[in-house]
Amino acid sequence: MTEPCESVAPDSRDKPFLSVVIPVFNEEENLPELGRRLLATLTALSDSFEIIFVDDGSLDRSWEIIFQLHQENPQQVRGLQFIRNFGQHPAIFAGFQAARGEVIVTLDADLQNPPEEIPKLVAKLAEGYDTVGGWREVRRDSFFRRLPSAFINWLMSKVTGVHLHDYGCMLRAYRREVIDSINQCQESTSFIPALANIYARRITEVPVHHAERTRGQSKYSLVKLIRLNFDFMTGFSHLPIHAVGILGLVIALLGLGFGLFLMLRRLWVGPEVEGVFTLFAILFVFAGLQMFGLALIGEYVGRIYREVRQRPRFVVREEVGN
Ligand code: UDP
Ligand code: MG
Repeated sequence: MTEPCESVAPDSRDKPFLSVVIPVFNEEENLPELGRRLLATLTALSDSFEIIFVDDGSLDRSWEIIFQLHQENPQQVRGLQFIRNFGQHPAIFAGFQAARGEVIVTLDADLQNPPEEIPKLVAKLAEGYDTVGGWREVRRDSFFRRLPSAFINWLMSKVTGVHLHDYGCMLRAYRREVIDSINQCQESTSFIPALANIYARRITEVPVHHAERTRGQSKYSLVKLIRLNFDFMTGFSHLPIHAVGILGLVIALLGLGFGLFLMLRRLWVGPEVEGVFTLFAILFVFAGLQMFGLALIGEYVGRIYREVRQRPRFVVREEVGN
């Protein structure tokens, strides 16, 4: 006898199919329109979704607007409010921990990522991908905003071996399993698209529109951008340490070569003026060795960092025969 699968129904009603996570920092001017457009798009897409606004310590009326959106749509809109500004990525982390959907989408609150693109990402995910990134083919940001992104895209592609055009676009969709893995990472500084790539097998991107920011200001000053990119670089690769180490080694070897050359020259031609160059050669050897030694220490510190971060080393998807 098979019974109709009634027990599944209430559960699946509790857990929405889609969660949309949005970090919000002083976006009072954008939130009403964002709420309207999101609700219109998502209602057409699925009958079970939730929108999670994470107010990252806004000082304007953002939280009031989120609260109002929740009151108007108690089933669909949820809100979290940080006590102060912790940053965009921590806000998304918080949203991930609260999200219950099978599919999780992240999005900026400033309407630069059009909410109307969400169905495109979800459809791509349904083709069997674990994460789908938005690729801003035509990016409407200043040159100085695009420059660090170009560097990050290049570095991230090298580090992870996953070549994507746009690691910085926050309009992205993830499967539940990827988010579960990310939720196990307790590190305090991180870069979510990169972290997701560690725990996803099939990764792709789709071109999305990008709008200019018409209201409010970008929350990223140059200093904040540099800090984010530096966080990212040190959090995901030992490239800076390796670069210093290699440089040190090269300098030491060049110094050695130079010293040898001077020695031979001394035998054939005689000493150079007052032996000054010999001193330089010796100096280079030691300076290079010192740099190399520093990088060696850095390598060990990097290893300690990797250990204390306690990222899950692997994640098992399925198992047969146990
Ligand atoms: N944001 C945030 N906390 C911050 C900085 C930004 O929650 O400390 C949010 C912001 O409200 C927006 C998104 O992150 O929804 C992207 O920020 P922004 O548009 O300023 O960045 P940009 O588009 O210049 O990269
Ligand atoms: Mg923006």
